Amino acid sequence: DLWEANGELAFRGVEFAYTPERVILPRFDLEIPAGQTIALVGSTGAGKSTLAKLISRFYDPSDGSIRLDGVDLRSLHPKDLRRAIVMVTQEAYLFSGSVGDNIALGKPDATNEEIIAAAKAVGAHEFIMALPDGYDSDVNKRGGRVSAGQRQLISFARAFLADPAVLILDEATASLDIPSERLVQEALQTLLADRTAIIIAHRLSTVAIADRVLVMEHGRIVEDGTPRDL
Ligand code: ATP
Ligand code: MG
Repeated sequence: DLWEANGELAFRGVEFAYTPERVILPRFDLEIPAGQTIALVGSTGAGKSTLAKLISRFYDPSDGSIRLDGVDLRSLHPKDLRRAIVMVTQEAYLFSGSVGDNIALGKPDATNEEIIAAAKAVGAHEFIMALPDGYDSDVNKRGGRVSAGQRQLISFARAFLADPAVLILDEATASLDIPSERLVQEALQTLLADRTAIIIAHRLSTVAIADRVLVMEHGRIVEDGTPRDL
């Protein structure tokens, strides 16, 4: 009797402030149909990460509601919420331990086959097999040679394995070399299929693959359109 979310999100009159003097989101309204890929852009301090944290229930709105498939996030069982909504942040991502354990964090009861399948899906299997101890290699070991792009792929494999209805991704700002950039972009497309995704996008290539681009300024959506419109 696991609850499976479709991934439709609705914000109604959402207000949020970290401190009483300064409202970050003033009456925020937004509807995201299930399966849509959103690129969220806007200047620094606009409230993008705050929005992401509200969806993950890091914080709750002071007024209004955020609903997943019509259900207020506050009335979801924490276990259902964690299964339905996964956030991948820039601070990423990896704890010290093996590559395999890092991927398995997405699904604690995963078998080795599932871990490998997730790595393959996002194109991480090859480089993992080239590490000194394959899936048993320590990600934080000095000289372990896990690059920034590879770390992203490992975190993508973890999210793929978790298979949430809603994925929130705060895209890394660090620049990647061109081969890694291409790999990460391909992995991203695989990861986005069949789920709702909100990507706080720092790359034009990411904005281009979104169904919808939202531009946020001072806690409000000031533009809402397709990548071609903007
Ligand atoms: P960036 O592009 O730089 O990541 P952002 O759009 O993600 O910016 P937020 O991190 O959501 O912006 O921040 C929105 C506002 O809220 C900023 O003015 C920020 O200083 C403030 N803020 C963020 N986190 C906190 C916090 N924990 N306590 C108080 N204020 C905060
Ligand atoms: Mg941010």
